[in-house]
Amino acid sequence: MKVFVTRKIPESGINLLKDHHTVTVSKKDKVLSKTEIIDQAQDAEGLLCLLTDTIDSEVISSLPNLKMIANYAVGFNNVDVKVATQKKIPVSNTPEVLTDTTAELAWALVFSVARRIVESDSFCRDGKFEGWGPMLMLGQDVTKKTLGIIGAGRIGTAMALKSKGFNMNILYVDPEHNSVLESKLNAKKTDLTTLLSTSDIVSLHVPLTDDTYHLIGEKELDSMKETAVLINTSRGPIINENALIKALENNQIFGAGLDVYEQEPKIPKRLKQLNNAVILPHIGSATRETRSKMADMAAENMIQGLNGKQPSNCVNPEVFE
Ligand code: NAD
Repeated sequence: MKVFVTRKIPESGINLLKDHHTVTVSKKDKVLSKTEIIDQAQDAEGLLCLLTDTIDSEVISSLPNLKMIANYAVGFNNVDVKVATQKKIPVSNTPEVLTDTTAELAWALVFSVARRIVESDSFCRDGKFEGWGPMLMLGQDVTKKTLGIIGAGRIGTAMALKSKGFNMNILYVDPEHNSVLESKLNAKKTDLTTLLSTSDIVSLHVPLTDDTYHLIGEKELDSMKETAVLINTSRGPIINENALIKALENNQIFGAGLDVYEQEPKIPKRLKQLNNAVILPHIGSATRETRSKMADMAAENMIQGLNGKQPSNCVNPEVFE
């Protein structure tokens, strides 16, 4: 069968696919528009796509042979899974393999913001360092502070578990009880209001859905501590970006570490001007090992799906009921 891959991904995944199918990889090393995807995947049975591809009802309906969609990401808010399910097309994602990598990046952001790492680095490069100073670049401690995890799933749990050496008090908000966090870290399940008002570090790990869109807005930011650090490695629209910029401009919170944006890849100029924001280009899962594992996983799911089997990481198993 024919598989269209919307962008170059690590070679191991492509080679796996080539053992079973005829594979075409987009030649353009840029995000494809919907029209380009429809055009280039026109006769494909399999579509291996990225979180930057919009695979909505129009795209799915315009690909007459489509039998399987393998998303190269754990989040799948870019795919209209409801429409795919109606058309009996399985959709898969790449969970687990990127969990620790993304949790590590969340920690990198915690320290970057709390200890003003990026600002300090620029300060040195700009030739402003004139010697140790008692009031120079004062940040926030992390040890023994309260870490609030919003969305204690795979990545949220991994992030919290990595706090062990810092002896932190852990709070979490999730519809589900997290027995691992409760038994290993004595974490407490709480509500969003309590978590926001009592946490020193708040880290977002929820999927983007209608329920989580703008979960953090003006009211929520108002309720946070003036010394708090907010980390977002989930999806941009979880935070009302305008409200966050205002809160950072007014030093209502200490700072924010962001890997994702509301109108990605656009980053507002006002956000770029802020010293108390550390901004990264959506690199949560970006290590060589993890991106290869994601490619292999997406390829394996594609092969299973095109074989008529339920892919190991199927997000709409009801297709097989
Ligand atoms: P997961 O499904 O294991 O965890 C999500 C958790 O959020 C679940 O426990 C769920 O119950 C909880 N949740 C859902 N709605 C909630 C709400 N309204 N309030 C509180 N909790 C809620 O997913 P995961 O593997 O941990 O990934 C989380 C998200 O991280 C992904 O959906 C993806 O969007 C994002 N992500 C980003 C990057 C990156 O590169 N920055 C990398 C990987 C994942």
